[in-house]
Amino acid sequence: MTVLMAPGGTLDMALRAFERGADSVFVGPKGWSRRPASDELTDAEIGELIRQAKLQGKDVRIAINVMPAPSEVDAFLAKIEPYAEWGAGGVMVCDPGLIPLVRKRFPQLEIHVSVTAGVFNTEDIGFYDELGADYVVLPYRWGVAEAEEIRRASPMKLEAFMFQTSHRGRICPGRCYSSSYFHVKHFRDEDAKDHFVGSASRGGSCYRICRVEWSLRSGDYQHPQAPTLKSSPELLLWELPEYVAMGVERFKIPGRERSPELVADIVGFYRRALDHVLAGNPNMCGFASEWEDLKARWTGERTGRDDDRVVRAELAA
Ligand code: SF4
Repeated sequence: MTVLMAPGGTLDMALRAFERGADSVFVGPKGWSRRPASDELTDAEIGELIRQAKLQGKDVRIAINVMPAPSEVDAFLAKIEPYAEWGAGGVMVCDPGLIPLVRKRFPQLEIHVSVTAGVFNTEDIGFYDELGADYVVLPYRWGVAEAEEIRRASPMKLEAFMFQTSHRGRICPGRCYSSSYFHVKHFRDEDAKDHFVGSASRGGSCYRICRVEWSLRSGDYQHPQAPTLKSSPELLLWELPEYVAMGVERFKIPGRERSPELVADIVGFYRRALDHVLAGNPNMCGFASEWEDLKARWTGERTGRDDDRVVRAELAA
């Protein structure tokens, strides 16, 4: 089955995504999924979402893609326990050492190698396959050719983002820690879990400092080129037929930090586009105009949120 998976930054967003045709929703528990708390769910909300998903024959996946310290491993496994009991379909994990532990303790859960694991090549994917993972999330710097290579070389199921970055080959999701150096405010919760605000892998979220203007200086010398660290990824359309043809199992719409209205419209759009392709129609021209509108809304919301994060980081530093 080909699955359309949507973001659930809030319970409302997740339920709207189901209404607009998502088969599956991914959510993050507060403090465990690399996002600000405003875009993560409480355990009570996750329980309610799983209950409602099951009533509709749908599915919930839990993004728990942080890097626990040795003292947090027990809390990490304990965190997953109720989600497995309630009937979540799987978890997204990025720490390779923890994958065999999750596999052993929760055999009923599918394990997704989160994009933040930063896989580089098919050999990496073979490594995660041996550890017991089921899915690999294709890095959004990759394209159709890389996905086809993995499809040929590995039995892993594929999860493709519905967006890509134009800085292909340069940025590796999950391997950037620059925000962690910029500002770290720390507290430890009642489960002995550290929260370094500003460090996505360690219980906080990235401040997107790649999005501000940088200059490169050493003493009196200033490099003439201002580095552009990251471009804004764009929603994907034209590659959809090729991904379907190669049998990509899961299509992932990102955007837990977007508005529920925009996410609902994007889910509705991709539901129709995916059904169109699955019915044997590879021509996507009829979707182009709506896609352009959604891209503009996507970029507008992204820019607003990222600018706001930088301001918040500066105030907190
Ligand atoms: S600073 Fe930019 S590249 Fe680095 S983790 Fe954050 S969003 Fe990604």
